[in-house]
Amino acid sequence: AIWLRDVHKAFGASPVLKGISLDIPPGEVVCVLGSSGSGKTTLLRCIAQLETPERGLIVMNGELLGQQEHRGRLVPRSPRDIARHRLQAGMVFQRFNLFAHMTALQNVIEGPTRVQKRPVADVRAEALDLLRQVGMEHRTGHYPSQLSGGQQQRVAIARALALHPSVMLFDEPTSALDPESVSDVLAVMKTVAASGVTMLVVTHELAFAREVADRILFMDGGTIVEDAPAETFFDHPRHERTKAFLSAVP
Ligand code: ATP
Repeated sequence: AIWLRDVHKAFGASPVLKGISLDIPPGEVVCVLGSSGSGKTTLLRCIAQLETPERGLIVMNGELLGQQEHRGRLVPRSPRDIARHRLQAGMVFQRFNLFAHMTALQNVIEGPTRVQKRPVADVRAEALDLLRQVGMEHRTGHYPSQLSGGQQQRVAIARALALHPSVMLFDEPTSALDPESVSDVLAVMKTVAASGVTMLVVTHELAFAREVADRILFMDGGTIVEDAPAETFFDHPRHERTKAFLSAVP
């Protein structure tokens, strides 16, 4: 489960997140919609601990991220705690960010063996299974440069899942892909969603959001203006900003 309370983040003088509160129960699939610059990526990066909020609390599986209580006060966590917590969020970015000098299989094996110190034989078997699940079993020995964008993105999903994260964070994972690859990657994401993994997905794919999300968050200007079950969101949006956003989509 993930729990955010009044999270604020600014870059210099410009506030980007202006008090985000959110509860995501285990297994829930949440899609985040909103116009460019509304703070969606920053929200994901705060949960992944790639950014540090100035204010507010983020709790993942009962543990406070970035800070801990010490003699009744909140103090910053050790780099070691932060590194451990980072692994709880599996991140899939817009631009495929596989390790270029490693094969698909090596990409998936790297984190669990190097960082989590799990035995290579176990991890290898699991990695092959994950690559099969994302439809990449025939490309395990290929390097990223030998794979299409969609194939790289499917390897990136397998790589993130191999860390057994508490949550999978997807940041516009299909927006840099050609249309055919988009549907391949969305199909893999649907399988992941159906397997009970908690997911937070920033996307512009409204049909996907409608079909797969349990719940939609709509962000505008650094706040969540609408937070509703997918069906309610699309069929009966309440906020004027949401209505305008949905009516602008063909
Ligand atoms: P998009 O759909 O375009 O990715 P978004 O909703 O994900 O938009 P963010 O990427 O979170 O929005 O960015 C929100 C605002 O914060 C933008 O105005 C952006 O320029 C600014 N911003 C994001 N990251 C940084 C940074 N590292 N330094 C300075 N400004 C930043």
